[in-house]
Amino acid sequence: MTEFSDDMPLGAARDALRELITPRGAKHRCPLCARTTQIQWRTIHSSMARYFLVLYHAAPPGTAMPIRDARIAGDSIKGADVCKMKYWGLLKDERERRPDGGPGGWWSVTEAGARFARREITVPRIARVYADRVLSFEGKQVDIRDCLGDRFNYDALMAGSPGDDDALVVGTGGTLFG
Ligand SMILES: [Zn+2]
Repeated sequence: MTEFSDDMPLGAARDALRELITPRGAKHRCPLCARTTQIQWRTIHSSMARYFLVLYHAAPPGTAMPIRDARIAGDSIKGADVCKMKYWGLLKDERERRPDGGPGGWWSVTEAGARFARREITVPRIARVYADRVLSFEGKQVDIRDCLGDRFNYDALMAGSPGDDDALVVGTGGTLFG
């Protein structure tokens, strides 16, 4: 590949690589580690938004909870996706705050997240993410109802029903909605 040479400074290689992967969907091999790299254009899709409301109901804002304990029955773990809402500042990874230093998977809904759940704020539709960091936000502002789309009913979810025909279950002992 001609974009990179062995004697170019690392900073220049980094800039060149970033330029190569700037167009949406563009991929390129990293000259250092040989992995294919790409900027991810993230959106909050309907399942993420629905799952987010499960978390919002499961614990007050700022309260850490193990994400595995909040789940949608019959639609099991979409947790990996909902965690991406950290890029908009709506969820926070509480790994550092684990008192026992145990494994990750503990998250909290932030104040902004709670406001998003209540439709008091909107967020940009797209987060451009590289190496787990947001490069920029793009697109029009959306609220959680836009994110839920036609698949899930916001008012039903906020009133404590599943929002569709599935049952939402939190923990092993109780049904949150139902
Ligand atoms: Zn690399």
